[in-house]
Amino acid sequence: MKKLALHWQIIIGMAAGIAVGSIAVRFEEGTQWVVNWLKPWGTIFINMLKLIAIPLIITSLIKGIADLKDITQLSKLGIRTFSLYIITTVTAVTIGLVLVNTVKPGKFVSEKTRTDMLSSFSDKATEKVTAANAAQSKGPLQPLVDVVPDNFFGAASSNGNMLQVIFFVIFFGIGLILIPPDKAQPVKAFFEGSNEVILKIIDIIMLFAPIGVFGLLAALVAESPSADIFVALGAYALTVVVGLGLLVLFFYPLLVKFFAGKQPLFFLKGIAPAQLVAFSTSSSAATLPVTIERVEEHLGVEKEVSSFVLPIGATVNMDGTSLYQAVAAVFIAQVLGNDLTLADQLTIILTATLASIGAAAVPGAGLLMLIVVLEAIGVNPAGVALIIAVDRPLDMCRTVANVTSDASVSMIIAKQLGKLRSPHPQEWDDNYKKKN
Ligand code: ASP
Repeated sequence: MKKLALHWQIIIGMAAGIAVGSIAVRFEEGTQWVVNWLKPWGTIFINMLKLIAIPLIITSLIKGIADLKDITQLSKLGIRTFSLYIITTVTAVTIGLVLVNTVKPGKFVSEKTRTDMLSSFSDKATEKVTAANAAQSKGPLQPLVDVVPDNFFGAASSNGNMLQVIFFVIFFGIGLILIPPDKAQPVKAFFEGSNEVILKIIDIIMLFAPIGVFGLLAALVAESPSADIFVALGAYALTVVVGLGLLVLFFYPLLVKFFAGKQPLFFLKGIAPAQLVAFSTSSSAATLPVTIERVEEHLGVEKEVSSFVLPIGATVNMDGTSLYQAVAAVFIAQVLGNDLTLADQLTIILTATLASIGAAAVPGAGLLMLIVVLEAIGVNPAGVALIIAVDRPLDMCRTVANVTSDASVSMIIAKQLGKLRSPHPQEWDDNYKKKN
């Protein structure tokens, strides 16, 4: 019997999770049952992905950089990566701003919803504001200081320090390029072999993906607040979702078509499993292993490019987050009755771009950084209380955009540098079937 493609298996897992979660909440103790018996499978799945993230970055980035002929190639890659990441992020914020200023979702919120939200989520909002202020109070160059670790094992001991690990690994790779080839060879061979092992482990973890997403979504539905809140904030949530949809279904596939010469459907089909994992986990960092595997093995990007562009993208390139921050900031201003000037809107472009770069690749990070955007335009940061209730589903959607953006940029850069394999369609198809 023909085996069902991986993305279909994951979609079935998600649908079953939503179904079971919605049935369970109808029973007394149902939510607890889901939390006790289904949620752990989701947690195990996320843990396995996180477990593999740091070893994957180390082996694949060292191998990728060592394969570059010289330092000039590395700087070429670096400049292109950062330029494209900034361009896609600014485009995303702009799309968000145009949408939110046209739809004006703030006008759809009744006075009652406004007071209800502000009072019921004020505690959580204060918590976020305090956390954001603590992060901000550190000095302007602190983000730069934070990238340089003082101990490699310290950095590698937390997935939140991904940029620090990348910093060390790039240094290591540069050293490897600069030493005599006969000395570099065994080191390269070791990391190349290790990288193969890790990629194989990811294949094995992905066999578990349908069960993992089943557990994650069942728990999410069982633990989510009532549907009324979604209706009250429907216009806002819809504006974010439409913006993200434009990015994921049109903007990136068209970028790939025009700048990497690949068909939109080829791109979307290749990246779909990573998108589904991003949706289920709300974390670009947890999704990174799947993104790397899909981009290298299904979209044809050579390791030299993917191993550099994707881990950096997972931590700094968050188009979905920046679009969401733009929409949310203007929405909150609309509801609270603040009029935003053109200068405020330009400030949003700048701060949402920076805030998305600074946001960690974990669930809810975008909401925390939104406070920085609100403060920059003089809107009361406690206004995040208005949107906290619908943040999780939007987080799931924006993480999909974040991951898709990284993948599309890696394809464009690979094309520009002659590192995009162009497998014969038949060969690609066989490879695809074999893998799935
Ligand atoms: N969850 C998002 C990510 O990991 C970040 C955010 O917007 O909260 O990509």
